Amino acid sequence: MIGSLTLVATPIGNLGDLSPRAVEALREADFIAAEDTRVTLKLLNHFGIHKEMVSYYEHNERQRGALLLERMLAGEHCVIVSDAGMPCISDPGEQLVARCAEAGVPVTVIPGPSAAIAALAVSGLPTARFAFEGFLSMNKKNRREHLRSLREDPHTLIFYEAPHKLPYTLADLYEAFGDRRITLVRELTKLHEEIIRTTLAAALARYQAEKPRGEFVLIVEGAAPAEEPALDLDEAVTRVLALAAAGTGLSAAAKQVARETGHPKSELYRRALGTSDE
Ligand code: SAM
Repeated sequence: MIGSLTLVATPIGNLGDLSPRAVEALREADFIAAEDTRVTLKLLNHFGIHKEMVSYYEHNERQRGALLLERMLAGEHCVIVSDAGMPCISDPGEQLVARCAEAGVPVTVIPGPSAAIAALAVSGLPTARFAFEGFLSMNKKNRREHLRSLREDPHTLIFYEAPHKLPYTLADLYEAFGDRRITLVRELTKLHEEIIRTTLAAALARYQAEKPRGEFVLIVEGAAPAEEPALDLDEAVTRVLALAAAGTGLSAAAKQVARETGHPKSELYRRALGTSDE
């Protein structure tokens, strides 16, 4: 019989957030693929679980992934965990899931904490449509290009960032987006949890003066929708004609409606003239 892969979300700071189903899955697995076996050992010890662990991370994926798949194809049940939060989300797992899907090994998930979703929910910024952007590249050029591509994006944007890079990232975000609202979500579920609802300029000023500590998720307001003219061109011409009929000179009417709607005065005037008997 073929085995399976189970993705198990683990706490991002508070061990109380490991769900009973997650504990059961860890207990019942044949072995656990862990991003860092030392980190996962602490979690297992806390719950009195003794289990074989295999390290699985970005740089050993090619060789280790093939081995894990082989074991699952031979009938073993594997649980994959990362150091904290949801595997596959800026963490190892994505390629293993793809391998299993391709080979016909069943994959299931025990959902739970993920810093991105928890931070978005608590941010106070719009949650209906959002884009997860993960970590920005270390390479300055790629970083700038990435941010430039997001300038017009109306979605609320989610970024992960390491504390020592936070001031540079805030500077780049401010340069790319101007002074938008941002919520910095720090040390979620931990003793020093802090939700800072502010603007990019104020956040930048704060963290240029103060050393950032702990883990951060950045939730940035999306681009404001481009302003559409209140009236389309035909409707604007109708308004020019109505003003003219009420006694305003055609040129003055076109000027007023151009100001109100953003349509060019010359176009309004020309069209109104074509249909007006003035
Ligand atoms: N897969 C994980 C998840 O779903 O939460 C994220 C892993 S990623 C390598 C680590 C990043 O998540 C950190 O740099 C930070 O941006 C964010 N993070 C993790 N735990 C956090 C916490 N307790 N509070 C705030 N941000 C956290």
